[in-house]
Amino acid sequence: MSKKGLVLVLSGFSGVGKGTVVKELLSRHSNYALSISVTTRSPREGEEHGREYFFITEEEFAALEKEGKLMEWAGYVGHHYGTPRDYVMSHIEAGRDVILEIEIQGAMQVKERYPEAVLVFVVPPSAAVLKERLSGRGSETEAVIEERMKRAVEEAKGMEEYEYLLVNDDLDTCVSQLHEIMCSEHRKAARNQELIRSIRKDLTQFVEGD
Ligand code: ADP
Ligand code: 5GP
Repeated sequence: MSKKGLVLVLSGFSGVGKGTVVKELLSRHSNYALSISVTTRSPREGEEHGREYFFITEEEFAALEKEGKLMEWAGYVGHHYGTPRDYVMSHIEAGRDVILEIEIQGAMQVKERYPEAVLVFVVPPSAAVLKERLSGRGSETEAVIEERMKRAVEEAKGMEEYEYLLVNDDLDTCVSQLHEIMCSEHRKAARNQELIRSIRKDLTQFVEGD
């Protein structure tokens, strides 16, 4: 199947479980690489520079953007977030599927600039469960949680722009379904021109008795 890696754009409301799903996917399969974004927000407790994000200043962010080093970027609840381009491209060339865990504005930029990308939107089983997960994470104040719930209402307007919806109810099921989506994407005929050519050649030679 297609040897070049794919770009997987994974979006979903804050607190829906994207990070949890990605962590589990990476632990189960070795062919995925996670793109580490740059952000101007402060690290949460337990987050490390270079692991969850590269935490940078507004000035550093503006410089990266100006130099064209970001594949996409967006403002989100008062801070900037962006995907460093080189990391994504080098892993794709090496045959890895690169996961971009990004919000919708950035996802739309990727869709436009890189139409081969696979766009998946993760949804919770209900709004109440989303609020519970946001509160349960214990990393944001009540005011920030309210802001993120309001943002979810806005983001929900763009769900049809994605190719796949994934319900994160049972974690195990959600992770398996995400991997299945990627396996199917690799099997698409349009992504396997080399295989198509070689099968045609083989058939022709066989029929002609070579
Ligand atoms: P996101 O990355 O989308 O903001 P997180 O991965 O940080 O969300 O998850 C938010 C909270 O929800 C975490 O406390 C996490 O443990 C929990 N969570 C994630 N997925 C599930 C799930 N399928 N069932 C129950 N809790 C979940
Ligand atoms: P958080 O602050 O909770 O880590 O992330 C807030 C939002 O920013 C999430 O929806 C997350 O997916 C998104 N995000 C993280 N990195 C990037 C990025 O590089 N680009 C864009 N557009 N969004 C990002």
